[in-house]
Amino acid sequence: DQAQPKKPDWIRVKAPTSQGYKDTREILKKNRLVTVCEEAGCPNVGECWSQGHATMMIMGEICTRGCSFCNVATGKPDTLDAFEPGRVAHAVQTLGLKHVVVTSVDRDDLQDGGAEHFAQTIRAVRHRAPDTTIEILTPDFLKCSPRALEIVVEARPDVFNHNLETVPGLYPEVRPGARYFHSLRLLQRVKELDPTMFTKSGIMVGLGETAMQVKQVMDDMRAADIDFLTIGQYLQPTPKHHRVDRFVTPDEFKEYERAAYGKGFLMVSATPLTRSSYHAGDDFARLRAA
Ligand code: SF4
Ligand code: SF4
Repeated sequence: DQAQPKKPDWIRVKAPTSQGYKDTREILKKNRLVTVCEEAGCPNVGECWSQGHATMMIMGEICTRGCSFCNVATGKPDTLDAFEPGRVAHAVQTLGLKHVVVTSVDRDDLQDGGAEHFAQTIRAVRHRAPDTTIEILTPDFLKCSPRALEIVVEARPDVFNHNLETVPGLYPEVRPGARYFHSLRLLQRVKELDPTMFTKSGIMVGLGETAMQVKQVMDDMRAADIDFLTIGQYLQPTPKHHRVDRFVTPDEFKEYERAAYGKGFLMVSATPLTRSSYHAGDDFARLRAA
């Protein structure tokens, strides 16, 4: 194995200590909610939680897939908890969130891939916190009938996000259970079903892709009518996970951002610490105010 490149200064973040961080952790714990912030060991947790931003992960902590970049456990998932949508809604209300991101593990074991559970969660949050904008970050519903996607879209989230994660050439090693063109088509279909819904996708860089491949992904996304784009540096959660090929420099990220706006994305976040849900609410509020 080749040695891992050394973490550059621009990647280092402070350990969380603020009162806001502790309050958010307490509310999430009380509502027995799982967050991707913790599951993924996200470097932004101190900043996001101190401002009451968190990304809830529904449908359990065990995933039916095993992507090589992801720290979520793979195995046989638990049965769905019918009270979970209510608990998410309660936490959103208690935290006073203006914008919430709800994501999930992949549930290839369920016939609808968890679509109905997503829809129930959206409806529960709408009911309890009608002013909160809702962003969902969904699995790819690869093994489901087309109806599964319709169920989620009909629940009318404000932003429909599904990450392509990497360039197509790296799918076999990075995202082995998924198909690049299926994921693209999923997002295109969301727009066809509801042209007023914002669509969003993201990739990680530093996995071994080239800049030309990244720009090709941007073109593919725009051809599928995707509105928002996130690009962030991949960080290896444990030594068992996919290695970091390189650390992309802040200047290269700026160039990606410039290129993406040039291709017509409405909103782009491309920085080393960008994650799919990083500043999602602020960015969305800015867009709506514009
Ligand atoms: Fe959580 Fe997203 Fe913030 Fe990371 S960027 S801490 S996953 S809300
Ligand atoms: Fe992780 Fe999502 Fe892949 Fe499951 S499908 S292993 S949660 S990235």
